[in-house]
This record gives sequence, C-alpha cells and structure tokens, in this order.
Amino acid sequence: MGLRVGLEVHRQLDTRHKLFCECPTILSTKPPTLTLERRLRPTQSELGQVDPAALFEFNKGRAINYEADPETACLVELDEEPPHQLDPEAVDIALTISLLLHARPMDEVHVMRKVVIDGSNTTGFQRTAIISLNGKLDVDRKEIPIQQISLEEDAGRKTGENKNTVIFRLDRLGVPLIEIATGPVIKDAQEAGRVALAIGQVLRATKKVKRGLGSIRQDLNVSIEEGALIEIKGVQELDLVSKAVELEVQRQTSLLQIRDELRSRKVKPADLKEDFHELTPLVSRSESKIVQSALKLGGTVQGVKLPGFGGLLKRELMPGIRLGTEIAKRAAYWGRVAGVFHSDELPGYGIGQAEVGAVAKKLECGPSDAFVIIADYKENVLDGLKAVVERAREAIAGVPEETRTANPDGTTYYMRPRPGAARMYPETDVPPVQISSDRIRQIGDNLPRMPEDIAREIGSKYEISPKLAAQLVNSEYLDTFGEIAAIGKDIAPSFVATVLTESMRSLARDQVPVENLDDTHLKEVFRLVAEGKTAKESVLEILKWLATHPTANAASAVDQLNLGMIGRAELKGVISKVLESHRSLVQANGAKALGKMMNLVMAEVRGRADPKLVTELLRTELEPDRG
Ligand SMILES: [Zn+2]
Repeated sequence: MGLRVGLEVHRQLDTRHKLFCECPTILSTKPPTLTLERRLRPTQSELGQVDPAALFEFNKGRAINYEADPETACLVELDEEPPHQLDPEAVDIALTISLLLHARPMDEVHVMRKVVIDGSNTTGFQRTAIISLNGKLDVDRKEIPIQQISLEEDAGRKTGENKNTVIFRLDRLGVPLIEIATGPVIKDAQEAGRVALAIGQVLRATKKVKRGLGSIRQDLNVSIEEGALIEIKGVQELDLVSKAVELEVQRQTSLLQIRDELRSRKVKPADLKEDFHELTPLVSRSESKIVQSALKLGGTVQGVKLPGFGGLLKRELMPGIRLGTEIAKRAAYWGRVAGVFHSDELPGYGIGQAEVGAVAKKLECGPSDAFVIIADYKENVLDGLKAVVERAREAIAGVPEETRTANPDGTTYYMRPRPGAARMYPETDVPPVQISSDRIRQIGDNLPRMPEDIAREIGSKYEISPKLAAQLVNSEYLDTFGEIAAIGKDIAPSFVATVLTESMRSLARDQVPVENLDDTHLKEVFRLVAEGKTAKESVLEILKWLATHPTANAASAVDQLNLGMIGRAELKGVISKVLESHRSLVQANGAKALGKMMNLVMAEVRGRADPKLVTELLRTELEPDRG
C-alpha cells in the first residue's frame, strides 16, 4: 500500500543547565511563587507570512497563565532577559550523538526561532539549532538515513486547561532536547518500532539523556499511497510507535474507502454548502443537557445537511474513532465547542426521535443524507459548522493533511492544520557557535561504546545470557544494574538482571507504577537480599509495594509486608518444633527424612529463610555426627 514512515525522536538531555540559561534541568515539586497572565499576539512583521497554524492558535483567544519559581526558572524563561549562549554541555552531547550516527556536524551552529503560538513558550517561539546533517543508522542490515540532528528547547509544561485559560509551568521550558529525524524510508509498522528502539539505544549510550515518562517523545510522519502525509505528535512510549503507525494506516485506508463510497454516490464538494439553519425551536424542549446548558447561557442550536453522507459518519476509522468523531474534533478545534451531534448517532444524548424527524425535515434531508447539529454560543456554532462542512468536503478528496496528537493507546486525534513553511527565522539574540575541528576530534576520540558492544561485555563479565544482556542494555536500568552488581557476590547478577528486565516489565503490564521506583529503591531492595535481611523470593512483592509507596524505603517495605528474614535462633526453634511433631518418622528414617522435613520447614518459613541455611541446620539435627 506504499506505506512510508519518517520518525522524529525527541529526548531530554541530562545536562546541568538549561539550553539558554543556568537554571537546572529539573522539574519543580513545589507550588509556584509567581504567576503571570499573558495573551500572545503574533505580529505580521515578526512572522513575515503569517503561519496558518499559528494564526489559528491565536484565534482561539485563550489567556495563558505562566507559573514559575526561582529554583527552576529565571528571567530568561520569563522572557524578561535575552537568552544566554547555547549551553556547551548540550552542544557536546549533540555532537557526540551526531558522530555516533555518522552525521556531519555544522561548522557553525545557528539558533533559529520556530513559531509556536499555543502558549507553551513565553516568547511565542521555540529556539532550535541544527547540529549536524546526513547521518545513518543500520537497523537489521538496512541503512536508515538520519536527515538532521538538532538541539531544541523544551516547552513549558501544561499543568491545567479550561475553555478560557491554559496554565504552563516554566520549569520545563528551556530543558535541552535532542531531535533526530530519519528519512521517510520506513516501510512497515514493526520496522518503525525497531528504528525508534535503535535510536533510543544510541541516545542512551551517551548516558546523558533523561529517562522516564515525559523525557521522550516521538513524532511520526505517516503516508500511504493515495493517502496524505500525517504528522503524529507526542508518542510517549517506544512500544507505541508500531501501534500508532498501524492505526494510522487503518485510518487512512478507511478514509479512502469512504472517499470511494462518496464518489460512487456521486457526492461533489460543491454539494456541501455552508447553509446553516436555526434549529433552536425544534430542540429547545429536548432532554439534552448540552442543548439546555447552551440555551441557558444565551446560545443557539444550528445544523447543516451533509448530502450523501448518510451512514458514513458512524464508520469506524480506528478503535473508538469514527468519521463523526473526526468531524466533531474539527468543530471543537475551530469552533471552540465541546462537540457535535450527528444523525448517525441520533436519536440519543437526550434528543428524541420526534426531534430528529423535525430537524431532518427542516434541513431537507433525504434517506442518504446526514446532518450535524451544534449547540453553543452563536459565534462558536458558526465557526464549528464551517469546520464541519470543510472536513466533509475533504472526505470526498480522501485523506486531509493534518497534524494529530497521539492518545496513550496509540489512536490519534486532530491537533491542528499542518504548519506552513514560513515558520523559522533567525534568533538574533544568540550568537552563532563555531564548531572547531579540534572539538570534533576530541569528542570523536572519546565516543561512548554502542549498545551491542556493551551487551557483549556485560554478558561475559557477569556471566549472563546474551539475550538477558541485550534486554538489560535496552532497558532503562543498565547503570542501576552495574551499581547493584557491585554490591558483592551475595547477589547473583543473573537474578538482578532478570528482575530489572522481565520482572519490571511484567509489573508494568499489571499496571504497577514502576516509574515511581528510583535507583535508590532498587539498590536498597537488593542490598537487603545480599545482607540476608529478606529473601530473593520477596523482591517482587517489595518492589510492588514501594511503587505505590514511593516515599517509603525498602526496609520499611520489608517491615510492612512482614517479609524480614527470621534469625538463626528463631529458625532453629521452628526446625525443632517440626522435628518434634514428627518424632517417630525422624527416628525411623534418620537422615533419609531430610527431604520431607525440608518441605515441612519451608512451608512455615518460605520467603523468610534461606533454603540453604534450612538444609544446613536440618542436616545438623538429623545427622548428629556431622554437627
Ligand atoms: Zn533560567
């Protein structure tokens, strides 16, 4: 079907300072000490040709509230002071990644401004700088071209939103992001996942990238033959890359089927008219809460006929997303409305059969026609219905070009129109940075090793299987593993590796919030095992508890769960009791009763005593000569 996918991987760098100031790159956990409200207005002179995407965001007219505190933001984030020079540490990391990906560094790095008017940047633009071009990465013996590697500043962190206001926290604004863009050469969904994984490995090899939720975002460009180029923004997890591509293919294919259906019904764009009708009198007594609250606020209810669209609005494009959903999202975006009612889902939502009949009659709908109704303020209703007609016209052409946002399940929704080309202009406040050949040579001489080499090395050093070693390198826990393995010989590396890979994944699958477990938690748990204070068998249960009680420490988890090891004396007591209650069996069989006694004792102390110690103590009892 001619699938072509390009990937854009964004990852936060773990630098000491932000990209254009000396603030740290951490997120604040405290309440803000400063809040200010702004409205962003793009001016013609700054933008040259005004970008449609930018203008749209502006037209939404929401107020923007910025929250900051002096520990994580300074005058630069507040746009009260010009940006400082490009953070040299971030540039070094970007150069390292460039060399690992065989890309050619620029002689001179220029900072550019990219217009973003969603308010996530106090300046109204995002600063970005191309570091290198034309790299490559081998993934399963196929060469994936790396078109461009850039440094960008991360945007403010959205912490709240309603119809009239958006709130951004400025702690994240300015955190360096590396952006790696591949050529559109990826041919199937699984390959997209593998490429994303391989790029992730290169980034992690630097040991200078942040990890955890929110530190990584993948954008995808997806197109199929006869479809359109769709940008999908913000795929947060690697595992979701393949899924998002698959679902987008499904969506575009379904839209092409709808196009064919509309053509066979001989529907033409000119048939779709911005011919909106007042419907308030027909639905004013309906039980719909949306209608009633719109009318109470002085709003109106209007509708439009979509000729030839009967039955098509309920066609599913992706799980839970129908053509009607797509149309509703457009109306929501352009009309600032909560949603729409369409004829394929009515009667319903408090609108009854009689009302549907009256509306259909008023709009002169025949059996093959559909209609859409919006209830809101009049201005919003009109903008919304215009967007509905526009989107319906696009359905006749096939797949419209869009920028979409990824949901956590890999489905997507309309975010905004695809931005035009006039988005970048030079940042004159930051001087260009010369990249000397000495600097490149020095970085080249100290490149970190690649994941496959590291896997080979830890495999032989710790005697763990190649598969487990590879999993460990692919996991977020490679460094943690090294630190835990260094605890000493009382803890088996293969056990640690298995917990950090397979067990952590299975906990995550069971909805345990493993992202709450930090290095300290993990090290503490294994240290308790090494010191004989809890059993190997208890590790998962302890981790599970800590994930939901992240402020507690491992020792208190052991206490709470009663998973402490029992002391030698207490264990001897348990053994004596078991032997006592089976005295005749022991006397008759002597040392041969060991297996049976072992089972009985372990049944009492499982998870709280080392089986080796139990065996040893039992032997002493059953074979007195040995004692
Ligand atoms: Zn700052």
